Amino acid sequence: MKLPADPNLLVYFEGGFHKLEDAKVGILTHALHYGTGVFEGIRGYWVAEEKELFLFRPLEHYERFRHNTGIVRIQLPLTASELCDLTADLIARNDFKTDIYVRPLAYKSGQRIGVHFGPEDDFALVVVPFGDYIDSTKGLHVGVSSWRRIEDNSIPSRGKICGAYVNSALAGDEARRNGFDEAILLNEHGHVAEGSASNLFMVRHGKLITPPVYENILEGITRDTIMRLAREELGLEVEQRPLDRTELYICDELFFCGTAFELAPIISVDHRVVGNGAIGPIAEQLRQLYRAASHGRLARYRHWCFPVYQRVFDCHRTAA
Ligand code: PMP
Repeated sequence: MKLPADPNLLVYFEGGFHKLEDAKVGILTHALHYGTGVFEGIRGYWVAEEKELFLFRPLEHYERFRHNTGIVRIQLPLTASELCDLTADLIARNDFKTDIYVRPLAYKSGQRIGVHFGPEDDFALVVVPFGDYIDSTKGLHVGVSSWRRIEDNSIPSRGKICGAYVNSALAGDEARRNGFDEAILLNEHGHVAEGSASNLFMVRHGKLITPPVYENILEGITRDTIMRLAREELGLEVEQRPLDRTELYICDELFFCGTAFELAPIISVDHRVVGNGAIGPIAEQLRQLYRAASHGRLARYRHWCFPVYQRVFDCHRTAA
């Protein structure tokens, strides 16, 4: 999806609110040369009936973000809860009443040549209007990549580290040039890992199966959401175990999931039809449940939805 670069958009940068066109980094910034940053991606859904914008599981995203800054030894002076409030403040300042995507970025900001970590760190936050990331209404055609998923002992996949996304970009680019919608990456053991920017689930013998966290995947928050919904709402058995490539060819259903992808069904892999070639019933049920949960329509999961305008109102009232 091509994002509109509205120069009047307000962003948070170097400790204050600025117009996007004024938020610039220097050409020698460490993260630009060496990929030494970590980022997040959080969705917010505008629910017109409630006149409210709900961030979906922002606390979990910011907790992951804080852990990941520790991996790259980036200092971040805000707690996960403070980051949620800052995000709400930025959304309110932009007066967004539409679906949005939130992009926090913490990075090594020193300006000098040399790969070693310097002491300078910075944090930026951008929120943009956002619709579908990929059109998966008819199901996706995907290919197994010739690029392997990066190893935990080289660049940890769970870290959501900027430089690591070269791996995703190479795989995604190759897949699209080969005529596929997306890539599936195997890890160095030859097991199925994930998509270029999403986790992967398979349905086989009525069971939902996904690679475990030690298979060089991102510990996805949507992955966790899907496992909860499958177990608690559909009574499905969910198994986390290594997956072989050829299981992708013989499974009943297959789908990606992630913040941007939401739930995206796959209908062919390497030119082999998945199931009967149509979107499977379990994927469809989970897609509807995910939509309901992320839009605050399921009471049991309402605590996952962070009400932006309510929160900003409460903060102002407390401050007054
Ligand atoms: N894997 C990768 C490589 C990703 O970039 C993403 C997107 N953050 C995901 C999985 C899905 O993670 P989440 O559900 O937390 O967005």
